[in-house]
Amino acid sequence: MEDLKLLIDKLDRHKHLDKSEWVCLLTGHDDEVRSYAAEKARSISTSKFGRKIFIRGIVEFSNYCKNDCLYCGIRRSNLNAQRYRLTDEEILSCCDEGYETGYRTFVLQSGEDRHYTTEHLADIVRQIKKAHPDCAVTLSLGELEYDDYKLLREAGADRYLLRHETADKEHYGKLHPAEMSFEHRMKCLEQLKELGFQTGAGLMVGSPFQTPECIAEDMLFMERFKPHMIGIGPFLPHKDTPFRDEPKGSYELTLFLLSLSRIMLPNVLLPATTALGTIRSDGREQGVLAGANVIMPNLSPTAVRKKYMLYDNKICTEDSTSECRFCLQSRMKSIGYEVEISRGDYSE
Ligand code: SAH
Repeated sequence: MEDLKLLIDKLDRHKHLDKSEWVCLLTGHDDEVRSYAAEKARSISTSKFGRKIFIRGIVEFSNYCKNDCLYCGIRRSNLNAQRYRLTDEEILSCCDEGYETGYRTFVLQSGEDRHYTTEHLADIVRQIKKAHPDCAVTLSLGELEYDDYKLLREAGADRYLLRHETADKEHYGKLHPAEMSFEHRMKCLEQLKELGFQTGAGLMVGSPFQTPECIAEDMLFMERFKPHMIGIGPFLPHKDTPFRDEPKGSYELTLFLLSLSRIMLPNVLLPATTALGTIRSDGREQGVLAGANVIMPNLSPTAVRKKYMLYDNKICTEDSTSECRFCLQSRMKSIGYEVEISRGDYSE
């Protein structure tokens, strides 16, 4: 295992490993190697951010989706999903409530719901920015065209989350229907960055057909692309999808990838995701201890939370905004961290 620790040291020094070295690290790790990476990652994140965690409030404003991603519980073919949309007023009031409880970033996430035109979405962004000029707005609306992203950026959106899901084209094809394109998703990421969005990429760990080579490609892609944010969570099956019987992703590998991402891209904004908190009750705390520095609790109205089910057993669907906020505070305190009240922008 000494040689795997040397690879971690090498990643730390050069911010690069070859594909074969990545595969070696991703196949050979054990508890000791993962702890070694976590310690290194944690010392990087505390030297950069202190023992402070940025929070982002997510408003899941629609679960209608035109896409049919095989892993996702809100795919269009899932006829059991009860569909909902929030009105502008409801979205705004989620943000207002979030503001009161200390959020300074609002993330608007949805399925790809064409009911909201780009102009309408831009208007929602403008309304939030007007009500809360000291806050950042992050969008996570899936794939659009350049002109749409441009309009949203001009309306004041600061950040955009679009996980690449997998950097291996063949693997992409096994997770998505033929009408969806790997090239288009990658092109979106390039455009978002070019437009000046703080841009987030990311992947599910243990998605069906994923191999260590796929993850090696993900790491090489992220080394090249240098996302400002990286969303990494375990794949979790949803009962109404073709992947219902597929095994969950590995909790340990998810933590390891968080650490390796922190070591490779020291300044990256790295959430301990809801999926990580779902697979293990203290998953988000352990994510922080493995190098994450962001948590993204839910601001959606409690009445719709259960309907935004990307995977089974998603946590925090019974809780209110203030319950989530204070639960989080005590979770962070239990590991010696505190919640930071600021926009928490990316900085070099
Ligand atoms: N429509 C937007 C938002 C997608 S939902 C978009 O296309 O970007 C946000 C993320 O949830 C996805 O990018 C995916 O990585 C993750 N996700 C979806 N289904 C999941 C599942 N079954 N298990 C774990 N994560 C999942």
